[in-house]
Amino acid sequence: MSIGFYNFAELHNPDFQQKVLQVYTEILKENAFIEGKYNALFEGAFGKLQGAKHALLLSNGTDALEIALLAYGVRPGEKVGITGITFWATAEAVINIGAVPVMIDVDPITGLMCTQSLKRTLERHKLKAIMPVHIYGLPAPMAEIEKICSPLGVKIVEDGAQAQGTFFAPQKPVGSGNNLTTFSFYPTKNLGAFGDAGALLTQDDELAQKIKLIRNHGRGAGGRFEVVGRNARCDHLQAAVLYLKLEKIEAQNKKRKTIAERYLKKLSTFPLRLVPEQYVGLSSWHLFPVGLKDQNQKYRLFEHLKGQQISSMLFYERSMADELPLKKYEGENESAQHFADTTLCLPIHPFLTDHEQDQVVEAIRNFLQQ
Ligand SMILES: *Cc1c(COP(=O)(O)O)cnc(C)c1O
Repeated sequence: MSIGFYNFAELHNPDFQQKVLQVYTEILKENAFIEGKYNALFEGAFGKLQGAKHALLLSNGTDALEIALLAYGVRPGEKVGITGITFWATAEAVINIGAVPVMIDVDPITGLMCTQSLKRTLERHKLKAIMPVHIYGLPAPMAEIEKICSPLGVKIVEDGAQAQGTFFAPQKPVGSGNNLTTFSFYPTKNLGAFGDAGALLTQDDELAQKIKLIRNHGRGAGGRFEVVGRNARCDHLQAAVLYLKLEKIEAQNKKRKTIAERYLKKLSTFPLRLVPEQYVGLSSWHLFPVGLKDQNQKYRLFEHLKGQQISSMLFYERSMADELPLKKYEGENESAQHFADTTLCLPIHPFLTDHEQDQVVEAIRNFLQQ
């Protein structure tokens, strides 16, 4: 039996389909296609779950990143610090508003923003904002990052696309801090829609107001167009799916954690780079990355697993600094390069069985013993 990277058949099982059809019928009767009552219900519940005063649903996670930068007033030509270990959207958001990405290197073990590199980059570049990513579901070291940035007035956008269920500390979820935090509900994320959707979280009333304006063409409460915005609204149908899925998200994240703990135990004696133990209770375990000796060994393991019908993924095959539009970048990227060269992600989803997981572990054992 093959082992998939995701299991949509289980996630969207007949029981869930039934619930979706029910609310879809309800929405069809109301003809409320955009920003309906489920948008409001979801925003309330998701904000509460992630510890934010305001949660604003948006069209997708990429728009959320872009709108966060706009809400902070980042202007064309200004510099924004990003890391190489993220999805391309983080870099794209900066470029699309005319700002200039500057690379900040990552921690070689976790792939999270390196605070030493951040300090060095801030000495060399005037950054308007930075975008630390809670990559793989691991919390970026926000306390340290904020300590470095706040005296300089550098704005922080946290990319939490992979962090639904990530905690900085017990009772302190991603989204509960004082920065703008973005989320993506792309179907493969821990919490996914039936298409595109995203969100921006903030504690700040004024920023929330600004974001609401931008996402709906700049249209204010009185119906006048107050600023030049855009269409970044979330469909009612997507909001309804997300609201229905919220019921199970905590249990599903718990299951991911159990699987991650089991992987860590079983792989602990293997010559692999693993996520440090301290993250077990904090990560959303969106992904389970392991580090190989070098790029060659990574590709060989990928092929070996494929040969055993086990899906793994190369997140991220290259540092963003190595993507074509960023070939000539400023900043630091050495650890990100190495991290990208050596990292492979093993299957982890709430429906992975112990038996399947054991097969993955055995396949890796056989590979490493060759
Ligand atoms: C998925 C993802 C995004 C983009 O989200 P979309 O909803 O697909 O636009 C941005 N950043 C990271 C880290 C992601 O994983």
